[in-house]
Amino acid sequence: MPRGAHAIRAEQLSLMSGLEHKKKTSKAFEKALSALIDLESGNILLEELSEEQKAAARVWRRDYLKDTALPTSFIQKMSKLTSQALEVWRTAREKSDFKSFLPTLEKVVAMKRKQADYLGFDDHPYDALLDEYEPGMTTQEVSEVLHGLVPKLRALLERILCQPQINTEPLSQEFDEERQLAFSKEMLSGLGFSWEHERLDLSTHPFSETVHPTDRRITTRLEKSDFVSNLRTTLHEAGHSLYDQGLPIEHFGTPLAEPISLGIHESQSRFWETRIGLSPSFWKHWLPKLKNAYGPKTESITEDAFYRMINRVEPSFIRVESDEVTYNLHVILRFEIEKALIEGSLKPSEVPEFWNSKMQQLVGITPPNDRLGCLQDIHWAFGLMGYFPTYTLGNLFAAQFFETFASAHPNWEERVASGELAFILEWLRENVHRHGRRYLGKELVEKVTGQKLSPEPFLRYLDDKYSKIYAMEGIAPK
Ligand code: MG
Repeated sequence: MPRGAHAIRAEQLSLMSGLEHKKKTSKAFEKALSALIDLESGNILLEELSEEQKAAARVWRRDYLKDTALPTSFIQKMSKLTSQALEVWRTAREKSDFKSFLPTLEKVVAMKRKQADYLGFDDHPYDALLDEYEPGMTTQEVSEVLHGLVPKLRALLERILCQPQINTEPLSQEFDEERQLAFSKEMLSGLGFSWEHERLDLSTHPFSETVHPTDRRITTRLEKSDFVSNLRTTLHEAGHSLYDQGLPIEHFGTPLAEPISLGIHESQSRFWETRIGLSPSFWKHWLPKLKNAYGPKTESITEDAFYRMINRVEPSFIRVESDEVTYNLHVILRFEIEKALIEGSLKPSEVPEFWNSKMQQLVGITPPNDRLGCLQDIHWAFGLMGYFPTYTLGNLFAAQFFETFASAHPNWEERVASGELAFILEWLRENVHRHGRRYLGKELVEKVTGQKLSPEPFLRYLDDKYSKIYAMEGIAPK
């Protein structure tokens, strides 16, 4: 869309979201749904429904109760505000001018607080917002897990920073964009993209968008002198897309063919991006192909050096470019801010100062300006609050799934090193994708792994991996 079309797009989106909301809360829908399930108690009324159909009815009821809690006028107002906010944020970010974004942020925060009131909550207003993205998860549960991560991640980071740092110069050589894109496509074909039902395009903010399991589009980002960013982004978005592809197509149009939650969605993208795409075995197979595609400038890069370079840990300002050790600290910072904004203990005008001092505490650096600080993410302008914690949940879920996957396939490294990837997708399909929204995210994790949500598998993985990369003694051998 041309940039100048944002005003009319805001009108269109507002109209569409109003129409959609009216349908979802209509008397006709209510009548149809209440023939299946008692809207008050949640008891199934039609006993002849299959277990799957009962699960779908329960999700429909949950969605219906949420939808009816919000007036259509509120939905329309929110849609219009956030599409306008996007443009204000974009300009403010370019100029690193928080003041020009502040009045908009104030409006968004006020609307989100109102939304929490409409939706209702038991304990904390943030519960209502978090539940939109990770149904069934509470602020308390997330707080405990996230806060438990901080000292352990900080300690690991401190230990890494005491070691000699990895020189990544060979990765910042310039490569033309066509070459990067062509190799990305080759890699995606290796992951199982057939190009009959997928597209890969370019955008500044990469995303994955699925219209239907047979119509999946992802975008990636190209930077001439950072081709690893392109590789990681492509694998990340592909992970999202493969999840959508694996939803049971025969149930399309029902919750059984919808993704569970953002945390589970992110677990799929991080599974491919980090657990596979940042592993030594993946590059045993793919580095020779990369060298082939990228030419003589990459000739002298060894497997070992490449693995160490792509996994370098270094505190940086931008969340999306950060490494596996610091990434979740970036997320925790945002979670703290959102929670405080929603409970009213932090004013929007205080965000930059709060951001900078928290960033210093958590990651150990202070952004020189708001462009590299609190203006970097699109989420708040989009009205997305309660969303950030799902990034960390995604990493934790991915680590839990991975341990179970690896015990089912103890020779996974050999197979990946020889170029096999289909068996991984099969495992994910069988254990995660095919269930649609039949379970809550945390229920699925427990069903698949036998463990409740836990940061331990993730911490074990980081400690083991980075102790080897930085030649340190592991601190948590389990
Ligand atoms: Mg993602």
